[in-house]
Amino acid sequence: MEQKDPFGRLQERLFAERADRRLFQDAMDRGFDYLQTLEKRPVVPVANALSGLSHFTSDLPDNGTGAREIIEKLDLYGTPATVASNGGRYFGFVTGAALPAATAVSQLAAFWDQNAAMQVMSPLAAKLEQVSEHWLKQALGLPDAAVAGFVSGTSVANLCALAAARYRILQKMGWDITANGLFGAPRIRVVCGDHVHASVQKALQILGFGAAMLERVPVDSQGRIIPEAIPALDEHTILLLQAGNVNSGAFDSFEEILPKAIPSGCWVHIDGAFGLWAAASKRLAYLCKGFEAAHSWALDGHKTLNTPYDSGVVLCTDADALTAAMRSSGAYLVQGTERDGMAYTPEMSRRARAIEFWACLKSLGRSGLDQMVTTLHGHAVHLAQELSQIPGISILNDIHFNQILIAMPDDEATQQLMQYLQSSGQCWAGGSSWFGQKAIRVSICSWATTGTDVERTVEAFRNACTAVLQKQDKFQG
Ligand SMILES: *Cc1c(COP(=O)(O)O)cnc(C)c1O
Repeated sequence: MEQKDPFGRLQERLFAERADRRLFQDAMDRGFDYLQTLEKRPVVPVANALSGLSHFTSDLPDNGTGAREIIEKLDLYGTPATVASNGGRYFGFVTGAALPAATAVSQLAAFWDQNAAMQVMSPLAAKLEQVSEHWLKQALGLPDAAVAGFVSGTSVANLCALAAARYRILQKMGWDITANGLFGAPRIRVVCGDHVHASVQKALQILGFGAAMLERVPVDSQGRIIPEAIPALDEHTILLLQAGNVNSGAFDSFEEILPKAIPSGCWVHIDGAFGLWAAASKRLAYLCKGFEAAHSWALDGHKTLNTPYDSGVVLCTDADALTAAMRSSGAYLVQGTERDGMAYTPEMSRRARAIEFWACLKSLGRSGLDQMVTTLHGHAVHLAQELSQIPGISILNDIHFNQILIAMPDDEATQQLMQYLQSSGQCWAGGSSWFGQKAIRVSICSWATTGTDVERTVEAFRNACTAVLQKQDKFQG
């Protein structure tokens, strides 16, 4: 006999799983155990952990698998293959860890499964976005008029800010881009530093600004825009600045650039993915001096603030331009009385990531945030100083914030040093290139990094350096 309700049995299983307290506790316990072993794990997975990933290779199974078995499989083959970027000795790219309160809160939020598109869909998410926006402006000293959109990261935050800029500049020239589109629109100029971040270039590209039309400004030895080299600006121009060069950590001189740029009528955007948080540190706030005069800013939660992924924020003082650029309409859309998150972001349905963002700021408070940011810098200064004592190693940048660029006398030796370091499992840092020279880039972004981690990292560099020099001796001898 044909089954009337083919989903019925499966649905019964799903309800049983939902009622199985031990199932959820088991997942939580495994996660908790993982957190406790972070300091002892190799920072990147060892070879046989990676080969274990082949257990996931398969075609889509015909029949479903019970949640218990799924968790077991993930823990057995997934856990060993994770990168321990949630610990204190992962210095690759610019990667934050996650504050414990936020990790815990994200479990609760997962049960809620809130959609942050509109206030009516989640009054809670709308409220926490509103509070996070307020706290963020207070923490960084940004203008009250700025509105925030909670997005997946700085790449999208840059995209939103530049879409707002494009809307406003064209509107001032009598062209409504939302009605008429980009084709046939008057030309907008884009001025940026030679070290503009790849994500900004991607955002520009998506918005119709090709690489060839960028007016690139030369930079100094730290990657900062040379203010005198900025071409004449006008109201048809977007000026792109950065708080935190992704290699050197250097900040453009907002204090010098903005008082001249703003009166020209141009739109100033600051990419501050990790560096904008310097404004929350009394000791480091001087790096951001004058930045509040800009029109828009982009920053990450998942780097310096140590929220879980994925979490970025666009801030914009021209709320009308941002919401016009992000506008969508549909008969079923309901305007909330307070805040509809989707008005400030490209997405409609969104994860309620403000829950974790809010939890991080709540967990630290203003003084804790200041201390954490200041400490990341302190570790970078200390580590750079210790590394510079190791014969053969030189530091290529000034330590502005949390980034260190490290090199040996030639590119090949630098490459070898990086390979020895990475295979040590003691810490992990990736490669970059600085004015044509190969470098190892260390970025200190994790709340969990301690003085002991810095010592262990120095030791790992010293051993790797010895190995490189021995290898060279062998070839010469
Ligand atoms: C990381 C970074 C970005 C991109 O941010 P995502 O969160 O990875 O999208 C942009 N600009 C700078 C300076 C960055 O460091």
